[in-house]
Amino acid sequence: MGLKTRQEYIESLRRMKPTAYMFGERITNVVDNPRLRAGIEATAATYEIAQLDEFRNLTVTRSPLIHEEVNRFTLPPSSIEDLVARVKLNRKLGQRVGTCHQRCTGLDCLSALSIVTYDIDQKCDTKYHQHFIEFLKYMQKNDLTGNAAVTDVKGDRSLGPREQPDKDMYLRVVERREDGIVVRGAKAHQTGSLSAHEIIVLPTRAMRKGDEDYAVSFAVPADSPGLIHIVGRSSLDQRELDGCDMGNIRYSKYCPTLIFNDVFIPRERIFMCGEVEFAGEMVVRFSSYHRQSHGGCKSGKIDCMIGTALTMMDYNGTSQASHLKQKVIDMVHRAETLYGCCLAASYEGRKEPSGNYFIDTTLANASKIHEGKEMAEAIRLMVDICGGFVSDLPSDRDLENPEIGPLIKKYLKGVQDVPVENRIKMFRLAEKLAMESADTISDIHGGGSPEAHRVTILRETDLEAKKKAAKRLAGIET
Ligand SMILES: Cc1cc2nc3c(=O)[nH]c(=O)nc-3n(C[C@H](O)[C@H](O)[C@H](O)COP(=O)(O)OP(=O)(O)OC[C@H]3O[C@@H](n4cnc5c(N)ncnc54)[C@H](O)[C@@H]3O)c2cc1C
Repeated sequence: MGLKTRQEYIESLRRMKPTAYMFGERITNVVDNPRLRAGIEATAATYEIAQLDEFRNLTVTRSPLIHEEVNRFTLPPSSIEDLVARVKLNRKLGQRVGTCHQRCTGLDCLSALSIVTYDIDQKCDTKYHQHFIEFLKYMQKNDLTGNAAVTDVKGDRSLGPREQPDKDMYLRVVERREDGIVVRGAKAHQTGSLSAHEIIVLPTRAMRKGDEDYAVSFAVPADSPGLIHIVGRSSLDQRELDGCDMGNIRYSKYCPTLIFNDVFIPRERIFMCGEVEFAGEMVVRFSSYHRQSHGGCKSGKIDCMIGTALTMMDYNGTSQASHLKQKVIDMVHRAETLYGCCLAASYEGRKEPSGNYFIDTTLANASKIHEGKEMAEAIRLMVDICGGFVSDLPSDRDLENPEIGPLIKKYLKGVQDVPVENRIKMFRLAEKLAMESADTISDIHGGGSPEAHRVTILRETDLEAKKKAAKRLAGIET
């Protein structure tokens, strides 16, 4: 009980027995699999920094619920300061791991549920908020990590859940029992589902009358019977299994497809079941929180890219090239605009009836649109500054080869006083930062595709107020 150390977190995962597959084979030891371990280490960083003086104040806070110190990743925000701290913490973690740390999604689910379960109970006389509060206490007391299982596989996108030829394309309730429900379906792109203790399921979209079986939310241990994690490929995943040419030597990201093959959910773990009118609110709350989280960690990732670009300039002998300095400026302002937008979304947050704080959705979604475009531009700038060996550097194994190793070291040398090995390492890091598909593609689709951000902005923005301002200036009476 209480805050876990990094090692305690890893050991707690070791005690779990999830059903996991990768490359067609069953993985029985998740924690010691090098591919998965690199992802687990990224989440472990959220535990590690809670023990470090430099980060402790930002990471550790007090829970008003259990009246104990907790890791911020188990605390739904209950003040503007909490909303701001989320962004700052995510940036620090982005800088530390250089990829996705994978623990924000669980917090974003907890934050959405802290508001919506209360709202449902007020209207429908249900007991979901109490279920949620008990679950939250359990998460906080044991310092657990949650995974956000939101994105259904969705089948034919032009059809709604119950119109699909195969009714399981959206996760649904297939059996209602006295003691709980049985669910079936599949959630795609499940960031770090094997690094999590609990899978937190939310609906993926707004629902209509008739969609009751699909309007479901609950939490379930990641190793529950019937739950199958199928680890997806990422562009550089084999490097971790090979144990060389990893670039980022410790941290990585993986995103399984998660199949719910008739999984039983006890009644007390259910947070929504059939209240179709609240599915949309659940999605908007979660995705807005999550889009804000992205801006924090991705600005931290751009910081890593800026550091890589500047170091490569030193190693290449280009540190005085003025056009490269301009490109560094272009990277810095992109990181700061992203960060600033997420901070603004926090400062403009507001208290909800449940007592928790929600961010400004327009600002959060604006930050995500910015991220989708500008992360790609930051990557382009970094690659431009570093040079072509980001794409096709010889392997470390070639360096170790007695015949070609010395030749590679001779011809890959940059400035005289920098060991060639360091220049090679930095190229590798640039490659990982630019091309780790499990992370870079989340810049675009993570937290919803760009059109979802735009639609939310259109819906949430007070357009009438803007028209009124223009008409007033033009002297048009309304
Ligand atoms: C790296 C990564 C990590 C992720 N992590 C998680 C996670 O941890 N948990 C989680 O739940 N999800 C996660 N996601 C999923 C993410 O939220 C989805 O990828 C996103 O919502 C888009 O859904 P999709 O991939 O099914 O694409 P689609 O929904 O198929 O979208 C593809 C394109 O089609 C458009 N489109 C789709 N349907 C329609 C329609 N009906 N009408 C018009 N246009 C349409 C979209 O706007 C988009 O441009 C992650 C995604 C990525 C890439």
